Amino acid sequence: MSDKPDKLITDDGLRLDGRRADEIRPMKIEIGVLSRADGSCYLEWGRNKILVGVFGPREAHPRRLQRADTAVIRYRYNMASFSVEDRARPGPSRRSIEISKVSREAFEPVIMAELFPKTAIDIFVEILQADAGTRTAAINASSIALADAGIPMKGLVTSCAFGKVDGQIVLDLNKEEDNYGEADFPVAMTQDGEITLLQMDGHLTPEEIKKGLELIKKGCKEILEIQQTVLRKKFETPVEEPEAKAEETEIEAEETEPSLEYAPEAAVVEEVIEEAEELEEELSEETTEAGAVTETVPEAEELEEIVKEAEAEVVDGEAIEEAIEAEAEEEAEEETEEEAEEEAEEEAEEEAEEEAEEEAEEEAEEEAEEEAEEEAKGPWKVVKDPSESGSRGENDE
Ligand code: ADP
Repeated sequence: MSDKPDKLITDDGLRLDGRRADEIRPMKIEIGVLSRADGSCYLEWGRNKILVGVFGPREAHPRRLQRADTAVIRYRYNMASFSVEDRARPGPSRRSIEISKVSREAFEPVIMAELFPKTAIDIFVEILQADAGTRTAAINASSIALADAGIPMKGLVTSCAFGKVDGQIVLDLNKEEDNYGEADFPVAMTQDGEITLLQMDGHLTPEEIKKGLELIKKGCKEILEIQQTVLRKKFETPVEEPEAKAEETEIEAEETEPSLEYAPEAAVVEEVIEEAEELEEELSEETTEAGAVTETVPEAEELEEIVKEAEAEVVDGEAIEEAIEAEAEEEAEEETEEEAEEEAEEEAEEEAEEEAEEEAEEEAEEEAEEEAEEEAKGPWKVVKDPSESGSRGENDE
């Protein structure tokens, strides 16, 4: 331990670390540093370094500790053996048990424990580096860790100490001031100003306490601002500008809405292309696996050609529509030509049939006329001109 300095406060009113009587040490807070805890906080205040983990509300064990109407709050303050100049004895001590008790009581008025009957809310405090005022620093860190765990609270708890150094009342004692000062007076309060912890080590007059409490109010106000800033930074979601949001939705709509001009045939062709590409990929993978990386697979080349042809065809929906229309027109033209030919053929056939029928009728009429003439001549045998018949000589004989 270092020797007592001659003066803890200079004639200019400055303390050993350069602060004025009403100034607190610089504070740095990080939230959510432990992934397994429900809430956590790492806090540096001057040369103090403190880690807090909050667990719960969770089922209280052992069960005999459970309370039917409320949650049980447990607070464990532990000083790491390497946290002080002389090695601190590991495990609970009178001091750590006392600090745990008063700190738990500092939170009991704000934690809404009645919402979680039969459960436990555990607050574990690890002092990694101590430089006076560790209980107040641990309360500030626990407040943040509880909020990080989402434990319902009526408000944050802030804590700070004042003391008497060289006969002067000063805020937030450091190690030298705590060791060689005349008094140490830690206080914790809610954000409404309700005091939830008050201790005194040393001798102070009522006037000095009054003056000290004024300093505490100022200190706690500053600490509360730091706590709120840190919590807001973590939990407040940034508000998006409405215009930017509208633009985003428009773009999304454009992307998702199918084009009305898009021909269904194009979709089929695209499917074919996709299948061909998949096959191509499979083939290339197989080739790579087989180690024949440098050789070109003919099937793949063919596929590439198919894909290129298909791609060339599918320029866009309009081109396909035009092609379909042209095809339909050609088909219609072909159909009309065929129909005309068929009609001509049918007409010709009908004409031929009519002619044949007429001829047959004429022949039948002629025959009927001849027969009638023969009958009118009588029962005589018709003798033909002998020059017309080859059997004439036989009849003569
Ligand atoms: P607080 O840290 O809240 O001010 P104390 O007033 O009891 O609590 O302790 C003042 C300081 O004394 C501590 O911050 C720490 O630096 C130192 N100290 C406390 N306990 C031990 C210990 N067992 N061994 C060495 N230093 C200690």
